[in-house]
Amino acid sequence: MRILLTNDDGIHAPGLKVLEEIARTLSDDVWVCAPAEEQSGAGHSLTLHMPVRLREHGDRRFSVTGTPTDSVNLALRKLFAERKPDLVLSGVNAGENLGDDITYSGTISAAMEAALAGIPAIGLSQAFRDNGRSFDAALGWGNRVLAPLVNMQMAKRTLINVNFPALPADKVRGIRVVRQGFHDYARGSLVEGEDPRGRPYYWFGLDDVEHTLDHGTDLEAVADGYVSVTPLQLDFTHHAAIGTLAERFAP
Ligand code: MN
Repeated sequence: MRILLTNDDGIHAPGLKVLEEIARTLSDDVWVCAPAEEQSGAGHSLTLHMPVRLREHGDRRFSVTGTPTDSVNLALRKLFAERKPDLVLSGVNAGENLGDDITYSGTISAAMEAALAGIPAIGLSQAFRDNGRSFDAALGWGNRVLAPLVNMQMAKRTLINVNFPALPADKVRGIRVVRQGFHDYARGSLVEGEDPRGRPYYWFGLDDVEHTLDHGTDLEAVADGYVSVTPLQLDFTHHAAIGTLAERFAP
C-alpha cells in the first residue's frame, strides 16, 4: 500500500512525525508532501497568483511552497504520475478539527483534495487541553483507528475526519463513529493593536468557542474522551431544499 502524508502545520511539524510513525505501522511505502510553512486556517485554497516550488528533502520526502491543497495537487501530478497513492493521510493536526471548524481546516482540505482525485483520504487531528501539546492519544490510537479503515471501499467524494481527545492514550475510552457537530457562531477573541507605523491591526484569537454538545456529534465524542470518526462528503447540496427552490422559479 502506497500512502501519501500531508498536513497544514508544515513539513517540520511534530504532528507529521507522529503521522509518519502511525503510517509506518501500515506500510513501508510512505511518502511525504507537505507545505513548507504552516498553513493552518488555509481551508481549501489553491495558490493561483504565484508559482509554487517542489523541494526534495530526502527519500520520498517533499515540501511545497504553498497550501495543503497545493501539496496534494502537485504531489498527485508530479510525484505520482505513474502510480497514485492508495491512501492519503493528513495531519496529525496540532489541535482539533471538530464541528463546522472543518470548513477553515487545511488538514481536512488536503484530504478533500485527495478525495476529489478519487483517492481514499483521512484527516487526523489531536485535541489539546490542559495536557499541553501531547500527541499521546494519536500515537496510542492511530493504528487502532486506521487499520479497520484502510482497506475499506470509500464512496466517491467522501473522506473521513478523525479526532483524538486531549487525554493520555490509556485514558481514552474508545472510538465512536459520529456526525459532524456545529459550533454556536461566536468566534474567539479579537486582539486589536497598532503596528510600528501607527496603523491598527486585528488578530483572530483561538480561545475555545462555546458550543452546544449535541448528542451523537464529533464535539461530544471528543469531549467525552473518545476518538471521533466522522464520514464527510463533498456534495454540499442541501437536497431537502431542491423542491422548494425549484417552486420559486416555476413558470
Ligand atoms: Mn494546523
